[in-house]
Amino acid sequence: MSETRIRCFVDFEKDGKQISHLQLPYSSNVSAYGWIGIPICVIRNGAGPTLYLGAGNHGDEYEGQIVLSHLIRDLDPAKINGRLIIMPATNLPAALAGARCSPIDGGNLNRSFPGDPDGTPTQAIAHFVESVLMPLCDALVDLHSGGKTLDYLPSALARRRPGDDPLAGAKRAAVEAFRAPIGYLVSDAREDRTIVAGADRAGVVAIGTELGGAGTVTRTTLAVAQRGARNMLYHFGLMEGEIEGPQTRLTEVSGPEYYVHAPCRGLFEPAFELGDTVEAGQRAGLIHFMDDPARPPVEVHYRAAGLVICKRPILQVERGDCLGHLATDFD
Ligand SMILES: [Zn+2]
Repeated sequence: MSETRIRCFVDFEKDGKQISHLQLPYSSNVSAYGWIGIPICVIRNGAGPTLYLGAGNHGDEYEGQIVLSHLIRDLDPAKINGRLIIMPATNLPAALAGARCSPIDGGNLNRSFPGDPDGTPTQAIAHFVESVLMPLCDALVDLHSGGKTLDYLPSALARRRPGDDPLAGAKRAAVEAFRAPIGYLVSDAREDRTIVAGADRAGVVAIGTELGGAGTVTRTTLAVAQRGARNMLYHFGLMEGEIEGPQTRLTEVSGPEYYVHAPCRGLFEPAFELGDTVEAGQRAGLIHFMDDPARPPVEVHYRAAGLVICKRPILQVERGDCLGHLATDFD
């Protein structure tokens, strides 16, 4: 595979704060020789550890985009020890559109790793992050939220790598240090296209978050994001300070049976709220046929017991839409 075509003008070895734009060549009907300018900030002071902080991987997940743009402007390089690489709008076209996927190529960045330097813009971004940035990093935190179609109890999460995971302890410690109300360890052996799967390949300790969602932010989710980002600077040794916030409730999402999906099209009447504890077989809701009120609605049930940490806020559903998911306490 060839090298990245993205041009990068920051000097990763230079002390101080550099705020720049990656130049991703993109030749289109409206700009023959154009490039997409993806924001990147490097803040370095001495030879300490390197932490990647990312947001806008999905463009409709806003806490991280807001908190990282504050951090870029506010952080004094003299206050840190080491190097921060901050990507506040990683899939910039998606962030500008407020959309999960890029409007120019349909690409979902978090299903595009390890990427392709000669592929679509989204694939080229994934390749740059995994092949150019990750080798510079000791740790990676990618700030996600539920986006427009999901809403979460504020959570930090780590991927449980299939088989022996040499980073498992470090990932769990980082999840707990973020101090979101919920932490969860997620097992999905087949999903190797995410940024945290890329970090596993690169040997970089990585966590993600699901801070809220429903296409907005709340003061609460913003505060969790801001506190968590700061806790990550402490935890990974870039700043001196005490980890703040109440202990995280550590849980796991250990298989597909913890998810509920719509079996048909219709109007979903949920029978649960975020934070509910449910039993296997309990009704999750009803799906109504709005063009045929004489027809009984279809009942949807949980297949497992657990804590509801994710809920779909949009009630019009198609067959296959995720309506929510559960987590169970990690022992
Ligand atoms: Zn996301």
